[in-house]
Amino acid sequence: MSVDYVDYHVHALGHKGGQYSEELLIPYIHRARGQGIRELGFADHDEYIAGIDEASIASLKTRFTDLNVKLGLEVSYRPGREEEIKAAARRFPFDFLIGSVHDLDSWMFDHPDYRFGYSSWDIAELYRKYYSVLEKLALCGLFDIVGHLDVIKVFGYQPEGDLLPFAEPALQAISRAGLVVEANTAGLHKPCAEIYPSKELLARCFELNIPVTLGSDAHIESEVGRDFAYARELLYQIGYRRLTTFVQRRRGSILL
Ligand SMILES: [Zn+2]
Ligand SMILES: [Zn+2]
Repeated sequence: MSVDYVDYHVHALGHKGGQYSEELLIPYIHRARGQGIRELGFADHDEYIAGIDEASIASLKTRFTDLNVKLGLEVSYRPGREEEIKAAARRFPFDFLIGSVHDLDSWMFDHPDYRFGYSSWDIAELYRKYYSVLEKLALCGLFDIVGHLDVIKVFGYQPEGDLLPFAEPALQAISRAGLVVEANTAGLHKPCAEIYPSKELLARCFELNIPVTLGSDAHIESEVGRDFAYARELLYQIGYRRLTTFVQRRRGSILL
C-alpha cells in the first residue's frame, strides 16, 4: 500500500534567516516527493517572518502540482505575546499556525547552549511550569497545531514516575480547544531519543479525540519526512487513521 504523508513542520530558513526563494525551497520539494509526501508545509520560526516571500510559495504551488505546498508558521508562544501573534498571523495567508513553547521566562530550555539551566530546577516543578504555559497556549485560541508537545524532555530530564499527570491539564485544554497535535519526529534525534509527544501521551491524545498531523521539524532538506514510517506505524497502532491537513487555516484530513 502506498502511503501519503504530510510534513507540516519544515524550516527552510532554519536558524539562519534569509529570504524565501524558489532556489531555496525547491530542494525541499524534491526531497519530499522522494519520501512519499503529499503535502509539504513550510513553517519557519516567527522571528524570521520577514524572510517569507509569498510570491515564491505561489509560484511553487503552480510549478509542482503533484505536491501541495503549504505555508505555515511556527510561533514561539509566551504568555503576553498574544497581540504580536495576531499581527504575525495577518501578515501572510497562512495555511496553518503551529504554537510551540521554546522558552520559560526567557530561558531557552530547548537550546543546547542553555542546557546548564536545568541544574537550577526541580524537574517536577519545571514540568509543571512548562505544561502550565502549554495550557495557556491551548487556551489563547491563536493556533491550529501544538508543536513538539513534550519538548521539555529534549535533553532527557524527566521527573520520576508517570509523566501523564503533568501533561493532563494541557491535554484537556488542547482537546477542548479543538487543537491538532503534531507527531514530531525530530525528538528521535535529540538526547531524549523519543518522538514528540511520547507514545504514552499520543495514546492519551487519541482517547481525548485530539487529531494529529505529522512534522519532521526539518532544518535541512535531508531531514524532510525523516522517520515518518516509524511515526505512521506508531499512530496506527494507537488507533489513528487520519492525518489532519490545513488550507487557509481550514481543516481537512487524509488517510493515514
Ligand atoms: Zn520548535
Ligand atoms: Zn521547528
